[in-house]
Amino acid sequence: MLKLEAIGPVTKIKLARALFGRPFYFTTAYWVDGLFIDTGCAYTEGEIMRALEGMPVEFVVNTHSHEDHIGANAALQEKRGAKILAHSLALPVLADPRGNQLLQPYRRIFWGYPRSSEGQSIGGTVETEHYRFQVIHTPGHSPDHICLYEPDEGWLFSGDLYIGGRDRALRADYDI
Ligand SMILES: [Zn+2]
Repeated sequence: MLKLEAIGPVTKIKLARALFGRPFYFTTAYWVDGLFIDTGCAYTEGEIMRALEGMPVEFVVNTHSHEDHIGANAALQEKRGAKILAHSLALPVLADPRGNQLLQPYRRIFWGYPRSSEGQSIGGTVETEHYRFQVIHTPGHSPDHICLYEPDEGWLFSGDLYIGGRDRALRADYDI
């Protein structure tokens, strides 16, 4: 299940796997100016690819390597030629999600294992045609977590760094 919302030049895409018509555990991706930030889970890959038809996707940035943020990486790389950028610690998980990220049963049911993709280590900035994003390393939710900050617009894309104060599960590599 997918819900799109335009926020100025930013398109917000809320995604969840629907079971028996009911969506569970929404995750969010954002498109802005040819940049796609996070790519949902394995089960929402097809919906994302359809939603992005007609929109350029030059770069993908994964805020971190959790399975609900890298799900359409492989499709965007193969079908759209997108360049995938992430923190260097995330790259082994992108390359082999099944081998390098053990999923508990609820994660396998609601998100699933993504396909492999080839990421590149992100630098200090990401530039699109109209915007310049600063890359900030923000470990806590995961060691490989980054935020994208656009100072001229006052935008911060913060992935899962702060989950509305309602984080219900702590993973082994969390650092409160
Ligand atoms: Zn996460």
